[in-house]
Amino acid sequence: MKKYYLILLNIVSIAPGYAAFSQANTIQDANKRDFEKNIVESVKETYKENHTQQTVAFVLQKEQQYIGTCRKKFTMWEVAELMKTFTDASDPDLTRPQIIHALQVGEAMRKDKLPRAWILAGFIHDFGKILYYFGEPQWAVVGDTFPVGCAFSDAIVYPEYFKDNPDFFDIRFNSRFGIYQPHCGLSNVHMSWGHDEYLYHKVKDRLPEEVCYAIRYHSFYPYHEKGAYEHLTNDYDKKMLKWINLLNKYDLYTKDDSPMDIEALLPYYKKLVEEFFPEPLNW
Ligand code: FE
Ligand code: FE
Repeated sequence: MKKYYLILLNIVSIAPGYAAFSQANTIQDANKRDFEKNIVESVKETYKENHTQQTVAFVLQKEQQYIGTCRKKFTMWEVAELMKTFTDASDPDLTRPQIIHALQVGEAMRKDKLPRAWILAGFIHDFGKILYYFGEPQWAVVGDTFPVGCAFSDAIVYPEYFKDNPDFFDIRFNSRFGIYQPHCGLSNVHMSWGHDEYLYHKVKDRLPEEVCYAIRYHSFYPYHEKGAYEHLTNDYDKKMLKWINLLNKYDLYTKDDSPMDIEALLPYYKKLVEEFFPEPLNW
Protein backbone atom coordinates (compact mmCIF):
# COMPACT_ATOMS: atom_id res chain seq x y z
CA MET A 1 0.00 0.00 0.00
CA LYS A 2 1.17 3.45 -0.76
CA LYS A 3 2.42 5.52 2.10
CA TYR A 4 0.16 8.29 3.30
CA TYR A 5 1.89 11.52 2.43
CA LEU A 6 0.88 14.86 3.75
CA ILE A 7 -1.34 17.02 1.66
CA LEU A 8 -0.47 20.65 2.14
CA LEU A 9 -3.69 22.49 2.35
CA ASN A 10 -4.27 25.90 0.97
CA ILE A 11 -6.33 27.22 3.84
CA VAL A 12 -5.60 30.84 2.93
CA SER A 13 -8.29 30.70 0.30
CA ILE A 14 -11.01 29.67 2.75
CA ALA A 15 -11.89 32.98 4.33
CA PRO A 16 -10.10 36.16 5.35
CA GLY A 17 -10.33 35.38 9.06
CA TYR A 18 -8.36 32.19 8.69
CA ALA A 19 -5.24 33.74 7.18
CA ALA A 20 -3.25 33.87 10.41
CA PHE A 21 -3.77 30.21 10.99
CA SER A 22 -2.42 29.20 7.59
CA GLN A 23 0.98 30.83 8.05
CA ALA A 24 2.10 29.72 11.46
CA ASN A 25 0.72 26.26 11.73
CA THR A 26 1.36 24.38 8.55
CA ILE A 27 2.36 21.22 10.33
CA GLN A 28 4.05 18.61 8.17
CA ASP A 29 4.20 15.10 9.44
CA ALA A 30 4.49 12.35 6.88
CA ASN A 31 4.30 9.76 9.67
CA LYS A 32 0.61 10.33 10.33
CA ARG A 33 -1.85 7.75 9.02
CA ASP A 34 0.94 5.45 7.93
CA PHE A 35 -0.86 2.12 8.09
CA GLU A 36 2.24 0.31 6.80
CA LYS A 37 4.97 1.63 9.06
CA ASN A 38 2.94 1.85 12.25
CA ILE A 39 1.28 -1.53 11.92
CA VAL A 40 -0.91 -2.19 14.93
CA GLU A 41 -2.81 -5.46 14.86
CA SER A 42 -5.93 -3.97 16.45
CA VAL A 43 -6.06 -1.33 13.68
CA LYS A 44 -5.86 -3.99 10.96
CA GLU A 45 -8.38 -6.19 12.71
CA THR A 46 -10.85 -3.30 13.07
CA TYR A 47 -10.60 -2.52 9.34
CA LYS A 48 -10.95 -6.18 8.40
CA GLU A 49 -14.22 -6.40 10.28
CA ASN A 50 -15.35 -3.00 9.01
CA HIS A 51 -14.71 -3.79 5.35
CA THR A 52 -16.28 -7.23 5.61
CA GLN A 53 -19.50 -6.12 7.31
CA GLN A 54 -20.32 -2.60 6.10
CA THR A 55 -22.90 -3.53 3.46
CA VAL A 56 -25.89 -1.65 2.04
CA ALA A 57 -28.22 -3.72 4.21
CA PHE A 58 -26.17 -3.04 7.35
CA VAL A 59 -25.99 0.72 6.71
CA LEU A 60 -29.72 1.04 6.00
CA GLN A 61 -30.49 -0.81 9.20
CA LYS A 62 -28.20 1.45 11.27
CA GLU A 63 -29.63 4.61 9.67
CA GLN A 64 -33.10 3.47 10.64
CA GLN A 65 -31.98 2.54 14.13
CA TYR A 66 -30.09 5.76 14.94
CA ILE A 67 -31.29 8.68 12.81
CA GLY A 68 -34.21 10.59 14.30
CA THR A 69 -34.51 8.19 17.22
CA CYS A 70 -33.51 8.28 20.88
CA ARG A 71 -31.97 5.70 23.21
CA LYS A 72 -30.99 8.07 25.96
CA LYS A 73 -30.96 11.78 26.73
CA PHE A 74 -27.50 13.17 27.38
CA THR A 75 -26.23 16.72 27.42
CA MET A 76 -23.28 17.29 25.09
CA TRP A 77 -21.16 17.73 28.19
CA GLU A 78 -22.17 14.33 29.54
CA VAL A 79 -20.99 12.88 26.24
CA ALA A 80 -17.67 14.72 26.71
CA GLU A 81 -17.34 12.99 30.09
CA LEU A 82 -17.93 9.62 28.42
CA MET A 83 -15.10 10.33 26.00
CA LYS A 84 -12.70 9.99 28.92
CA THR A 85 -13.31 6.26 28.81
CA PHE A 86 -13.02 5.52 25.08
CA THR A 87 -9.97 4.79 22.93
CA ASP A 88 -10.15 4.47 19.13
CA ALA A 89 -8.86 1.08 17.92
CA SER A 90 -8.72 2.16 14.26
CA ASP A 91 -6.31 5.04 14.68
CA PRO A 92 -2.59 4.29 14.33
CA ASP A 93 -1.74 7.71 15.79
CA LEU A 94 -3.88 7.69 18.92
CA THR A 95 -3.50 5.55 22.01
CA ARG A 96 -4.96 7.86 24.65
CA PRO A 97 -8.64 8.43 25.52
CA GLN A 98 -10.77 10.47 23.12
CA ILE A 99 -11.11 13.41 25.49
CA ILE A 100 -7.39 14.16 25.00
CA HIS A 101 -7.83 14.19 21.21
CA ALA A 102 -10.89 16.43 21.60
CA LEU A 103 -8.88 18.91 23.67
CA GLN A 104 -5.88 18.81 21.33
CA VAL A 105 -8.00 19.68 18.30
CA GLY A 106 -9.98 22.33 20.17
CA GLU A 107 -6.87 23.90 21.64
CA ALA A 108 -5.08 24.10 18.27
CA MET A 109 -8.10 25.88 16.77
CA ARG A 110 -8.35 28.16 19.76
CA LYS A 111 -4.68 29.08 19.45
CA ASP A 112 -5.29 29.99 15.81
CA LYS A 113 -8.26 32.12 16.80
CA LEU A 114 -10.83 30.26 14.73
CA PRO A 115 -14.49 31.20 15.30
CA ARG A 116 -16.09 29.69 18.40
CA ALA A 117 -18.30 27.34 16.37
CA TRP A 118 -15.16 25.80 14.88
CA ILE A 119 -13.41 25.44 18.23
CA LEU A 120 -16.54 23.68 19.41
CA ALA A 121 -16.49 21.48 16.29
CA GLY A 122 -12.87 20.61 16.94
CA PHE A 123 -13.77 19.55 20.45
CA ILE A 124 -16.92 17.54 19.65
CA HIS A 125 -16.20 16.22 16.11
CA ASP A 126 -15.66 12.65 17.35
CA PHE A 127 -18.41 12.56 19.95
CA GLY A 128 -20.44 10.31 17.65
CA LYS A 129 -18.20 7.62 19.09
CA ILE A 130 -20.73 7.48 21.88
CA LEU A 131 -22.14 4.74 19.63
CA TYR A 132 -19.80 2.43 21.52
CA TYR A 133 -21.81 3.22 24.67
CA PHE A 134 -24.88 1.78 22.96
CA GLY A 135 -23.07 -1.46 22.32
CA GLU A 136 -21.82 -0.92 18.78
CA PRO A 137 -18.55 -2.67 17.96
CA GLN A 138 -15.56 -0.50 17.07
CA TRP A 139 -15.80 -1.40 13.37
CA ALA A 140 -19.26 0.25 13.26
CA VAL A 141 -18.10 3.37 15.09
CA VAL A 142 -14.59 4.36 14.00
CA GLY A 143 -12.29 4.27 11.00
CA ASP A 144 -12.33 5.83 7.55
CA THR A 145 -15.71 6.00 5.84
CA PHE A 146 -16.71 5.25 2.24
CA PRO A 147 -19.91 4.93 0.20
CA VAL A 148 -21.80 1.64 0.15
CA GLY A 149 -23.98 0.70 -2.83
CA CYS A 150 -21.26 1.21 -5.44
CA ALA A 151 -17.78 -0.16 -6.10
CA PHE A 152 -15.32 0.08 -3.21
CA SER A 153 -12.38 2.26 -4.21
CA ASP A 154 -8.77 1.11 -4.00
CA ALA A 155 -8.13 4.46 -2.32
CA ILE A 156 -9.76 3.11 0.86
CA VAL A 157 -7.29 1.87 3.45
CA TYR A 158 -6.79 -1.95 3.31
CA PRO A 159 -8.94 -2.40 0.16
CA GLU A 160 -8.04 -6.10 0.05
CA TYR A 161 -10.43 -6.75 2.94
CA PHE A 162 -13.47 -5.92 0.80
CA LYS A 163 -13.26 -9.27 -0.98
CA ASP A 164 -15.13 -10.80 1.97
CA ASN A 165 -17.92 -8.19 1.85
CA PRO A 166 -21.10 -9.70 0.29
CA ASP A 167 -21.72 -6.48 -1.68
CA PHE A 168 -18.38 -6.93 -3.44
CA PHE A 169 -19.93 -9.64 -5.60
CA ASP A 170 -23.42 -8.14 -5.89
CA ILE A 171 -23.97 -6.68 -9.36
CA ARG A 172 -26.42 -4.11 -7.96
CA PHE A 173 -23.68 -2.64 -5.83
CA ASN A 174 -20.30 -3.30 -7.44
CA SER A 175 -20.26 -1.02 -10.50
CA ARG A 176 -18.72 2.45 -10.56
CA PHE A 177 -22.07 4.16 -9.87
CA GLY A 178 -23.98 1.24 -8.37
CA ILE A 179 -27.31 2.53 -7.02
CA TYR A 180 -26.38 6.19 -7.58
CA GLN A 181 -26.67 8.71 -10.39
CA PRO A 182 -23.57 10.53 -11.66
CA HIS A 183 -22.86 13.63 -9.51
CA CYS A 184 -25.91 12.97 -7.33
CA GLY A 185 -24.25 14.73 -4.38
CA LEU A 186 -22.86 13.16 -1.22
CA SER A 187 -26.02 13.91 0.74
CA ASN A 188 -27.72 11.28 -1.46
CA VAL A 189 -25.02 8.69 -0.84
CA HIS A 190 -25.18 6.14 1.96
CA MET A 191 -21.87 6.23 3.80
CA SER A 192 -20.47 3.32 5.79
CA TRP A 193 -21.93 3.60 9.27
CA GLY A 194 -19.89 5.29 11.96
CA HIS A 195 -19.45 8.30 14.22
CA ASP A 196 -19.43 10.96 11.47
CA GLU A 197 -22.91 10.36 10.10
CA TYR A 198 -24.34 9.74 13.54
CA LEU A 199 -23.07 12.99 15.07
CA TYR A 200 -24.01 14.98 11.97
CA HIS A 201 -27.67 14.14 12.50
CA LYS A 202 -27.46 15.16 16.17
CA VAL A 203 -25.96 18.60 15.48
CA LYS A 204 -27.17 19.55 12.00
CA ASP A 205 -29.81 22.02 13.16
CA ARG A 206 -27.66 23.67 15.80
CA LEU A 207 -24.34 24.53 14.17
CA PRO A 208 -23.33 26.40 11.00
CA GLU A 209 -23.74 24.42 7.77
CA GLU A 210 -20.01 24.28 6.98
CA VAL A 211 -19.23 22.94 10.46
CA CYS A 212 -21.87 20.22 10.15
CA TYR A 213 -20.64 19.27 6.69
CA ALA A 214 -17.06 18.90 7.93
CA ILE A 215 -18.22 16.74 10.85
CA ARG A 216 -20.22 14.53 8.48
CA TYR A 217 -17.34 13.71 6.13
CA HIS A 218 -14.22 14.11 8.24
CA SER A 219 -13.43 10.36 8.05
CA PHE A 220 -14.07 10.16 4.31
CA TYR A 221 -10.33 10.04 3.60
CA PRO A 222 -10.65 8.25 0.23
CA TYR A 223 -12.39 11.40 -0.99
CA HIS A 224 -10.85 14.33 0.84
CA GLU A 225 -7.32 12.94 0.84
CA LYS A 226 -7.23 10.85 -2.36
CA GLY A 227 -9.89 12.39 -4.59
CA ALA A 228 -11.85 9.12 -4.98
CA TYR A 229 -15.64 9.19 -5.55
CA GLU A 230 -15.62 12.63 -7.15
CA HIS A 231 -18.04 11.12 -9.69
CA LEU A 232 -20.68 11.11 -6.93
CA THR A 233 -20.12 14.69 -5.78
CA ASN A 234 -21.97 17.76 -7.00
CA ASP A 235 -21.18 21.48 -7.08
CA TYR A 236 -22.28 21.87 -3.47
CA ASP A 237 -19.78 19.22 -2.36
CA LYS A 238 -17.03 20.88 -4.35
CA LYS A 239 -17.80 24.17 -2.65
CA MET A 240 -17.81 22.55 0.80
CA LEU A 241 -14.66 20.41 0.50
CA LYS A 242 -12.49 23.15 1.96
CA TRP A 243 -14.32 22.86 5.26
CA ILE A 244 -13.54 19.16 5.57
CA ASN A 245 -9.91 20.02 4.87
CA LEU A 246 -9.95 22.70 7.55
CA LEU A 247 -11.18 20.30 10.23
CA ASN A 248 -8.90 17.54 8.96
CA LYS A 249 -5.81 19.66 9.28
CA TYR A 250 -6.40 20.01 13.00
CA ASP A 251 -7.84 16.52 13.45
CA LEU A 252 -4.81 14.79 11.97
CA TYR A 253 -1.85 16.92 12.88
CA THR A 254 -2.54 17.60 16.53
CA LYS A 255 -2.28 13.97 17.62
CA ASP A 256 0.72 13.54 19.87
CA ASP A 257 1.62 12.34 23.33
CA SER A 258 2.70 15.61 24.89
CA PRO A 259 1.33 16.16 28.39
CA MET A 260 -1.82 18.19 28.84
CA ASP A 261 -3.47 19.65 31.91
CA ILE A 262 -6.91 18.27 31.20
CA GLU A 263 -8.63 19.54 34.33
CA ALA A 264 -7.41 23.09 33.73
CA LEU A 265 -8.79 23.11 30.19
CA LEU A 266 -12.17 21.48 30.74
CA PRO A 267 -14.00 24.52 32.22
CA TYR A 268 -13.47 26.53 29.00
CA TYR A 269 -14.94 23.70 26.94
CA LYS A 270 -17.81 23.10 29.32
CA LYS A 271 -18.88 26.72 28.88
CA LEU A 272 -18.46 26.52 25.11
CA VAL A 273 -20.44 23.29 24.82
CA GLU A 274 -23.25 24.66 27.00
CA GLU A 275 -23.40 27.82 24.91
CA PHE A 276 -24.25 25.83 21.76
CA PHE A 277 -26.03 22.91 23.42
CA PRO A 278 -27.84 24.13 26.52
CA GLU A 279 -30.42 21.32 26.47
CA PRO A 280 -30.01 17.53 26.56
CA LEU A 281 -30.02 15.82 23.14
CA ASN A 282 -31.66 12.63 21.93
CA TRP A 283 -28.85 10.12 21.44
FE1 FE B 1 -13.32 11.04 13.73
FE1 FE C 1 -10.75 13.02 15.31
